Amino acid sequence: MSSYIEDFPILKQKVNDEQLVYLDNAATAQKPRAVVEAIMNYYYHDNANVHRGVHTLAERATKAFEDVRTKVAHFINAPSKDEIIYTKGTTESLNWVAASYGQTHVEAGDEIVISYMEHHSNLVPWQQLAQRTGAKLKYIDLQSDGQLDMDSVRHQITDKTVIVALAHASNVLGVVNPLAEIAKIAHQHGAVLVADGAQSTPHMKIDVQKLGVDFFAFSGHKLMAPTGIGILWGKSELLDDMPPLEFGGEMIDWVQLQETTFKKAPWKFEGGTQNIAGVVGLGAAIDYLEQIGMDNIQKHEHAVIQKVMPELQQIEGLTIYGPQEANKRTGVISFNLDNLHPHDVATALDMEGVAVRAGHHCAQPLMEYLNVPATARASFYLYNTLEDGQRLVEAIKATKEFFKNGTV
Ligand code: PMP
Repeated sequence: MSSYIEDFPILKQKVNDEQLVYLDNAATAQKPRAVVEAIMNYYYHDNANVHRGVHTLAERATKAFEDVRTKVAHFINAPSKDEIIYTKGTTESLNWVAASYGQTHVEAGDEIVISYMEHHSNLVPWQQLAQRTGAKLKYIDLQSDGQLDMDSVRHQITDKTVIVALAHASNVLGVVNPLAEIAKIAHQHGAVLVADGAQSTPHMKIDVQKLGVDFFAFSGHKLMAPTGIGILWGKSELLDDMPPLEFGGEMIDWVQLQETTFKKAPWKFEGGTQNIAGVVGLGAAIDYLEQIGMDNIQKHEHAVIQKVMPELQQIEGLTIYGPQEANKRTGVISFNLDNLHPHDVATALDMEGVAVRAGHHCAQPLMEYLNVPATARASFYLYNTLEDGQRLVEAIKATKEFFKNGTV
């Protein structure tokens, strides 16, 4: 794959006198010019509120807003654009499923099944729902290499299970979960499968129909769109049955003094003025990714990981979490170095111009499960090159030397 760095002005800067290598993509991705310009053009030429006006700008803004809904439906192979709901991001999408579907389908004694690798966004909403309803929250075990334990999947999902909620790809362990297989198990027991697609959607072709899931959530900002825009996809027969959560303008059909009827999905969920510029940016980001090709992006990231993993594994004292085989991994590598605190490691890497994240990655139960307080995490995207991988390896070696000798 050719280099895309020219499309990302932010990446062409020096940090601490070193050329920046941005490896914090699991937190958020950088934005190509095409996305920034689409937002700028929207504000310069088309800005108006959607749905409500008959004037030309309102019609243009509405068309842009609704066209992106169709684009998103194609992007994840949803059967209908009316199943695409705009949200703030994965967190809001998952909270809405818990609040709307959960509140109307879960009762005391029911079970909600998640796993130990979940991000807090796919854990706390279910914990809250369980507390409110008296349902039981159960956890699927992991194998020693961080992959989901399928025996535990079969054991934990029972006829009492109403909701199974799982990450499609982990933000810590670099694994992709076999959702299609798990969806079948969930459905055999009459449960729905909610997928957290925050870490998969930016990096691979998503086909919600092939995955067989019932709900799928993702964030725009991790796939080069702006922050504050995300998607909840759900099967229409489920969405039609779900109550709206936010009441006000836009989502109503008819308001009388004592009663109101609501629009159908997706609009009944989109109360108030939406993040229209964010939607436009999301459309431009999807165009950008599709022009390169999701399969090409995945192949490129695999090639970088295949090269960097063995080199990292040779560094004495470096522990990598998740599968050790490069071909079982996504572009997320969480690690610890000797017994250094990951914040110190990340700070030292920053001195070398290499941006990585350190902390619990919004997955405290997983940290406890791994028996570590925190990790450092390098995460790659399509603009990262083999040289970036090399810079990470060299920077970690320099960090090791620094803490041994006291100089970088
Ligand atoms: N799930 C996973 C696996 C994630 O990595 C993230 C983002 N770190 C989220 C959910 C939450 O996404 P957002 O903050 O964009 O709502």
